[in-house]
Amino acid sequence: MNAAQKLLFQDQSFTNRFHTLGDDFYSHQMPTALLNPQLIHINPSVAKLLDHTASELNHDQFRDFACGNMTLQQSQPVATIYAGHQFGHFVPQLGDGRALLLGEIKNSRNEHWEIQLKGAGTTPYSRQGDGRAVLRSSIREYLCSEAMYGLGIPTTRALAMINSEEEVFREQPESGAVIVRLAPSFIRFGSFELFASRGQNDQVKKLADFVISHYYPEILEQALENNSNPYPLFLSEVVKKTAQMIAQWQSVGFSHGVMNTDNMSILGLTLDYGPFGFLDNYQRDYICNHSDHQGRYSFQNQPAIAYWNLARLAETLLSLMTIDEANEALSTYESVFSPLYMDLMREKSGFFEQHSDKTQLKDQEVLILALLNLMEKNQVDYTLFFRQLSNLNSNPAASQSAPSGVSASSAIQQNSPIMSRDLFLDRQAFDKWLVHYQQALEKAPMAAEQRKQKMDKVNPKYILRNYMAQIAIEKATEHQDYSEIDQLLTLLQSPYDEHPEMSHYAGLPPEWANKISVSCSS
Ligand code: AMP
Ligand code: MG
Repeated sequence: MNAAQKLLFQDQSFTNRFHTLGDDFYSHQMPTALLNPQLIHINPSVAKLLDHTASELNHDQFRDFACGNMTLQQSQPVATIYAGHQFGHFVPQLGDGRALLLGEIKNSRNEHWEIQLKGAGTTPYSRQGDGRAVLRSSIREYLCSEAMYGLGIPTTRALAMINSEEEVFREQPESGAVIVRLAPSFIRFGSFELFASRGQNDQVKKLADFVISHYYPEILEQALENNSNPYPLFLSEVVKKTAQMIAQWQSVGFSHGVMNTDNMSILGLTLDYGPFGFLDNYQRDYICNHSDHQGRYSFQNQPAIAYWNLARLAETLLSLMTIDEANEALSTYESVFSPLYMDLMREKSGFFEQHSDKTQLKDQEVLILALLNLMEKNQVDYTLFFRQLSNLNSNPAASQSAPSGVSASSAIQQNSPIMSRDLFLDRQAFDKWLVHYQQALEKAPMAAEQRKQKMDKVNPKYILRNYMAQIAIEKATEHQDYSEIDQLLTLLQSPYDEHPEMSHYAGLPPEWANKISVSCSS
C-alpha cells in the first residue's frame, strides 16, 4: 500500500447504508474501466465536504478511484433500481443505467455524503445505452450543479471530473468522461414508483422508513410526540422541500428540462442535469430541451409539473396513509410555493420589510407581475435587469427624474454600459412602471445603499448561460484546455460577488449563443 492509498478515505468512515436495504433495491455492479483516464478537475469546496483538500486528492489513485478503474476494498458499488414517469408516461423499470453508487463517507461534522460515479459503464439497467457520459455533458453538469449551489439552491454536488480516451458515440464520436457526484442520497420519486407499481407495499414501507430515519429523523420524533402516522408527515416534508426548490428555480430563471419523476429527488435536490438552461430574456414559455416538442417542461410549467410529480409520489404511499391524508400533504405545495416565490421576487425587487400590511404586499405583487409582463414583451434579460435595478434604487437622481418625465430608464444607463443596450424597447411603458415602483419603494423605506447591498445578495451578477458552458466545452474538447472549467467554477460558486476580472461574463449573451441547441443526448 502506498502513501496515496492511505490518504484515500482509509481513516474515514466509508459505509453504504443504501446497501443494507437488500438486493431488491439495487444490483451489484463493478465499474467498467475507462481508457487512459485523466483527472481534469477537483472541486475544492466539495473535497472539503470529505475532509480533504483538492491537492490531497490530486493523485493517480484518486483518479483511478474517481473513474472506476480502481475500487476501494470497503466499497460496495451498486446500481440502484427505480421506475418513473417520463414525459407523462409510466416506465415500469428504469434504474442507474450509467451511474454507480460506491458508498458514503461520514465527515468530521457527522454528515453522510454518498459518492456516485456517473458514466462508469453499463449496468443491468442500461437498456440500449452504453453506460457512458460524454465530456460535453459532464462539463455542463459539473458547472451547473456548483452554480446552483452558489445560488443557494439545493442540489447534488460535483467533486471531480475525469476525461479519457474512451470513444463514446453520440451524434459523432466524443470522449467518455466520468463525474463524481455527491449527495446525502440519490433516492428518487421513481424509486418509490417501482415498488408501488409492482404491488410490493412492504418494499415501499421499507424505503420510506429508510428515508425517514436517515434523512427526515425529526418526523419520527414529531410522530411519536403526537402519536400520529409518520408517513403523511414525510410526504408533506417532501412536498415542502420540492415546492421550495421550485420557487427558487423560478425566481432565478432556471429551467431543468427533464422533470421526469425519476429525476426528482426525495430530498428536494436539483438532480440529473441534462438539457437545462437559465433564462436569458424573460420568456415564460421558454423550452430549454430541444427534444421537448410539446413544451411539457417549459419554464412556466415547472411549478405545475412538480406538483403533478408529487401526486405520483403520493400515490405510491397510499398503502401507508388514507387518500385524505395524502391530499392534505399535497396541499402543502400551494401554501409553500406561491408565498415563497412572491417573497423571493419581492426581495429581488428591493422589498425586504417583514411586516408590510396586506395592501402593501398586494401592491408590490401587482407591480412585480406587471414588470414581468413588460420584461417579456420587451424581451428583457432577466438576470441583468434585476442586477441593475439595485443601481437605480441607490441613485437618487434616477428616482427623481422618473416622475418629471425624463426617461428613468436612461438613468439606469448611467450606471451600466450593459443597460444602455436598450433593455426596454418600449421606454414609455417602462417609465410608467418606474413611477409606480418608486412610489412603492417610498412606502417601504430603507437607506438606498443598504437596499442596494441587500438586492445584490439576491440578484446574481453571474449565471451559467449556455454559451459560457459552451466555451468551456470547446476549449476542453478541442484543445484539452480545462482552465475555463476552473475559472467558471470559481466564478459561479459566488455569483453575487463582483469578480471584475470575469466581467465579460456579466453581459448579454453573444449572438452565436442563439445557435446552441441542447437536447437529451448526453
Ligand atoms: P436521464 O434522462 O439522463 O435522467 O436518463 C434516463 C434513464 O436513461 C436513466 O435510467 C439513465 O440511467 C438512463 N441512461 C441515460 N443515458 C444512458 C447511457 N448512455 N447508458 C445507459 N443508460 C443511460
Ligand atoms: Mg435521470
